[in-house]
Amino acid sequence: MRAASHWVLVGCAAVAACTTTRASDLVLPDRPQNAAQRDTASRPAVDNAVLGASVRALGREVEAIRGLRFQREVPFRVLSVEAIAAHFRNDRVEESDAQRGDDLLAVGLGHLRDEDTEDRDAFAQMMGNEAQGFYDPRDAILTLSEVEARSLARAGPAGMEARATVVHELVHALQDQHFHSRVAVDERGPAMIDRATVRLALLEGDATLVTLEWQARQRGARMLGTAEQRPRIARWAERAQVLTESNVPKYFIDALELPYEAGATAVGVLYERGGWQAVNDALAREELRSGALLHPERGDDGLVRVDPPTPRPSTERVLSRELGELELRLLLGVVVRKERASELAATWRGDAATLDRSTGAATRPTLVFQWRIACDSPAGAEAIALAARPLVERWRREGCPRMRGGSANQCLADVTVERVGERASVLVRRGE
Ligand SMILES: [Zn+2]
Repeated sequence: MRAASHWVLVGCAAVAACTTTRASDLVLPDRPQNAAQRDTASRPAVDNAVLGASVRALGREVEAIRGLRFQREVPFRVLSVEAIAAHFRNDRVEESDAQRGDDLLAVGLGHLRDEDTEDRDAFAQMMGNEAQGFYDPRDAILTLSEVEARSLARAGPAGMEARATVVHELVHALQDQHFHSRVAVDERGPAMIDRATVRLALLEGDATLVTLEWQARQRGARMLGTAEQRPRIARWAERAQVLTESNVPKYFIDALELPYEAGATAVGVLYERGGWQAVNDALAREELRSGALLHPERGDDGLVRVDPPTPRPSTERVLSRELGELELRLLLGVVVRKERASELAATWRGDAATLDRSTGAATRPTLVFQWRIACDSPAGAEAIALAARPLVERWRREGCPRMRGGSANQCLADVTVERVGERASVLVRRGE
């Protein structure tokens, strides 16, 4: 786990949604504890009156930084680490079609093995074990772990960390009070889709930015609107790390971290351009797409809607979505470093991703995944196709041990990445 300063780990409103991809501390958050902090041998009781006063005082600081007033007090509760873990374990909702779609897409893109998608329970439980606190828009209650609650009034790093956690979660409460429909969404909806990624990046970016400013003020400084803002956010994004558990598929980790990193950067730029009003406007705009969020200087200019291809004969459409620029970053991030992936993905202007399944009686139906990505120029599309080539080569060379039925020598899928005009096109065809 990351050591210094505030971090916010992430859980999910619907823990089920965690698995494949997006999650946020909107329902499960903040960073794991180290063993010493977890030591409960001498456990002083938590004084709720003192705690309430601390939370209210932090609420006033959040209002001052964020320029928004709480419409009502945020109720809080303290749960033991065990109770939080149980909460997440028991909170699983039945898997929806949209979430099964997330799994299929993540497997189709080579991010996950078929088997990984069965790890939902283990992953949810691990996140529950590591939660420091979370805000759940379903009951509008801020939950703190007992460990955080005991540290809250302390001087020193543990106290500072606990207060930063509360600040972060209070921002989510503030968002919920002012932008409820943006915060409280159907947890059974898809996570691997542009509008969901944009939503999380905005919510987590906002909360992260406020927390960074709060930390600067603890040192008697200011960050927002100063020359220090960009470097500070960049340093934070570089160090940000959600989970260190090495047995968790890398894609889970990358997809968990992205809304915080990309979100803090994007919301920082929004703030530079128009203060908190620009951030509020973005929160109010539910149709906001990733290209406009990540590049506020160009807004919607040049963004297009890409028509999904028509399903071929003897196939049925399983899903059709726009995956977005952030999903493109995640794919490219498998083969190039993160910064390069961000640069390359900035050519994104819209996309259509479809998944079709053969309708015959075959025991293993053919699955066809197509991703058509509109780019700002043929050169942009070519750069994406070129960057993704090692990925395709790897599949051909190493087979597909990540796919059920696939092995180190055999790949049950054909993968093609190419440029067609101003579009990059990914085609994965598996089965038979
Ligand atoms: Zn958060």
